[in-house]
Amino acid sequence: MTSYKRTLITSALPYANGPVHIGHLAGVYVPADIYARYLRLKNEEVLLIGGSDEHGVPITLKAKNEGVTPQDIVDKYHGMIKDSFERFGISFDVYSRTSSKIHHETAAGFFKKLYDEGKFVEQTSEQYYDEENKQFLADRYIVGTCPKCSFEKAYGDQCESCGTSLSPTELINPKSMISGNTPVLKETKHWYLPLDQYEPWLKEWILEGHKEWKSNVYGQCKSWIDSGLNPRAVTRDLNWGVPVPIDEAEGKVLYVWFDAPIGYISATKELTPDWEKWWKDEETKMLHFIGKDNIVFHCIIFPTMLKAEGSYNLPENVPANEFLNLEGDKISTSRNWAVWLHEYLEEFPGKEDVLKYTLTANAPETKDNDFTWKDFQARNNNELVAVLGNFVNRALVLTQKYYNGEVPALGELNEVDQATLAEIGNLKTEVEKSLDNYRFREALKLAMDLARLGNKYLADEEPWKVIKTNPERVKTVMNICLQITANLTIMLKPFLPFSMDKLCGFINFDKLDWSELGRTDLLPAGHQTNKPELLFEKIEDATIEAQVQKLLDTKKANEVAEAVAKPAKENCTFDDFMKMDIRTATILEAEPVAKTKKLMKILVDTGIDKRTVVSGIAEYYKAEEIIGKQVSVLVNLEPRKLRGIESQGMILMAEDADGTLKFVSPESAVKNGSEVR
Ligand SMILES: [Zn+2]
Repeated sequence: MTSYKRTLITSALPYANGPVHIGHLAGVYVPADIYARYLRLKNEEVLLIGGSDEHGVPITLKAKNEGVTPQDIVDKYHGMIKDSFERFGISFDVYSRTSSKIHHETAAGFFKKLYDEGKFVEQTSEQYYDEENKQFLADRYIVGTCPKCSFEKAYGDQCESCGTSLSPTELINPKSMISGNTPVLKETKHWYLPLDQYEPWLKEWILEGHKEWKSNVYGQCKSWIDSGLNPRAVTRDLNWGVPVPIDEAEGKVLYVWFDAPIGYISATKELTPDWEKWWKDEETKMLHFIGKDNIVFHCIIFPTMLKAEGSYNLPENVPANEFLNLEGDKISTSRNWAVWLHEYLEEFPGKEDVLKYTLTANAPETKDNDFTWKDFQARNNNELVAVLGNFVNRALVLTQKYYNGEVPALGELNEVDQATLAEIGNLKTEVEKSLDNYRFREALKLAMDLARLGNKYLADEEPWKVIKTNPERVKTVMNICLQITANLTIMLKPFLPFSMDKLCGFINFDKLDWSELGRTDLLPAGHQTNKPELLFEKIEDATIEAQVQKLLDTKKANEVAEAVAKPAKENCTFDDFMKMDIRTATILEAEPVAKTKKLMKILVDTGIDKRTVVSGIAEYYKAEEIIGKQVSVLVNLEPRKLRGIESQGMILMAEDADGTLKFVSPESAVKNGSEVR
């Protein structure tokens, strides 16, 4: 294994067309942050790089839909994303953006170098063109049926249903998303990265050289390489992005997947003039933290770009995660099916670590996983509160009670004491092993085992009983509990940074250094600790129910939005229709029918007479608010008895997709008894 002097950690650039949600956090930012914090605790040289990806077609589509400029869209979301990351405590050394000048220069320069050295192949091809809007259609502007799985809303570059990467001409029945028309094919010239030429090298570098990569990552790379690589366009006909820096490429920009990963380089440049050390010195280890949808770009395309350029390092590992689902459904920005970070921060102030903990404990490291609010509550109440919080609180409160907060001296150690202290070192070794192999959920579980160890030790030794008979012995027990507490602050700092800072304050401890971890004398006898507060608090059922209700409301809104009108009924004759006598009428009186939920007894003036109608609207209208309303009544419907009341006709209602009923009323007042036809 190569020994490295420093580590460059990149985290996938979130796309600036929406806020960040728990899927992004669990897949990329929480593990990247844990790893960066871990290396910093080890006093290693490390950079955590982040930034917003601000180019690409979805942003232009969103701008078009909202009637604003693409710059407006990215300004809004970049600000929002950056702010929520900061508040959540993702410890970026730099958080940049790809619309910045430095990035445009860096990306254009990168392209120009490859262009000048003849690393691209030029190809004129036929691409879809929208004749009505006189523009070439980017892949994302074309929808059609997926040839692999028959999903009807596949995009020109990818089917989001089966995940297959597509080209627009593979789509069955393609349509322009701008005009809705069927696009035509027209010639255009583009520059391609000849991935096929790099296939032998990729085979050797990944398939032979990186067998240690996570099996989901290695497997995806292998399947891509085995199915044969094709040249991939790095330019696009679009007016939003980094302009292609050559004269004959007027009106073309760099393909977002070419420019976005160069964003990691630009961000490093923005941070330090010494940026080349981080990208080109072979003693720097580079890691890409990403979600599984980015594997091909970070394992095959970006490394090929770097290889073609020639002066850059290649990633040493790409610990990509699978997807996190939410309450059994795929997280979706467009369907608002997500827990949004900025909303979480407002609704759960001071509970940043609880979300980090839950997302790590349940991280989708080897397979897709599910976030549920019930699990979130259980992780908080049963683990953070009942295990970690409970242990440190008892240790610190007893220290206050018996010794006014002063650490007592260690006496003679029995076997249990020795085994307990030895276990701290064992756990350190195991946590390190897991972290070094990017197994963060396992590392967190092992780190929490230290709190479990403390709890068990305290429960077995029962200092609150022993204090009455053997106060000397209690000093040793409490000293050991306090050493465990101090070790916890170091071991859990990468996972629970805010809470461990708080705990450090309780015990007056600031030697947060991984090399100190495992020592059994972190707090010397006589060291003064402070009065503790609660480290975590219980989350009540009502809080969780409110979040679940929010999701149910979203689900309902989506159902309404996605509802399709029922097909038309069979034709009827004009005479059939004319048999119905529909009149305008005014509601004079209304009262709910006793012992029913839905029924309302209504007196209407039909112009012909005043009559009683029973209507099933009590769930949607209050009696007092409908009096005086003009409605439409079918007056020649056979009378029928409902709950003992004779209903003489029917008030016409429109039923919405969610079942809600609304009156069908004339749009301005007409005389009662007017015929509706
Ligand atoms: Zn598909």
